[in-house]
Amino acid sequence: MIELTPKPIESLIIQKKQELQGVIDYPDKTLSSIIREIGFKCDLCSKCCTAEFNDHVFLLDTDAARIKQIAPDALVPAPYYEFCDREGRFYVSGYALKSRPDGSCIFLEQGRCSIYSQRLTICRIYPYMLHREADEDGNMDWRQISGLNEHGCYHTEIEKGECRQIAEETKGYEIACLEQEIGFLEAVDARFRENGLRHVQGIYDKQMRHLRNGGEIEVQVYYEGGFEKNLIRISDYVSGSVSFAIG
Ligand code: SF4
Repeated sequence: MIELTPKPIESLIIQKKQELQGVIDYPDKTLSSIIREIGFKCDLCSKCCTAEFNDHVFLLDTDAARIKQIAPDALVPAPYYEFCDREGRFYVSGYALKSRPDGSCIFLEQGRCSIYSQRLTICRIYPYMLHREADEDGNMDWRQISGLNEHGCYHTEIEKGECRQIAEETKGYEIACLEQEIGFLEAVDARFRENGLRHVQGIYDKQMRHLRNGGEIEVQVYYEGGFEKNLIRISDYVSGSVSFAIG
């Protein structure tokens, strides 16, 4: 029997599905005890809401839907576009939040989150995480805490029930993130097949230069199972402020 080598997008889907299974199989008890052992406590330094710590705030569809309600101007296509077709259209798996010129989140005001009661899923679970990442030597391993020993307080007492809840929410976030990525890859694959398209790296690089030079590009953002067309310039990623309404 001849084994066909999967195409790049198919291979990525397989890889992401394996990652998803790995997260699902990761024992809740282990994550919960790591959280208890590390005993992280936020000291309100707000570093995690700035470029000093985090590149951008990626949004799950449920988060993007909330931001569309309260401050649609705060949304931008997540910055690392994954594909570009021969027409120069980029594709990315979701939205992100705009930043202020100093690199802080658009919702950070005087060191505090101005949408705290409606903050996003990643902001609720941060700095907890559950995904595989390479260390400095390139060895892949599970990462459970972001910015370990770089912010906040450690070795504080966290009640067992709270640790279990954090572990559950953290796994839930990572699962939702991977499901969104898999849905995105499947949607790109379907679109490319239906329209005889493929990713073209040369066009990707050319369009990125156009963007960096202040030009406008089209980004198809995956949202609720389909794609939304966004026309965007590099300047759209940074804003002094956004107007928003919170009930
Ligand atoms: S939404 Fe709030 S908690 Fe989340 S990064 Fe922005 S300021 Fe920080």
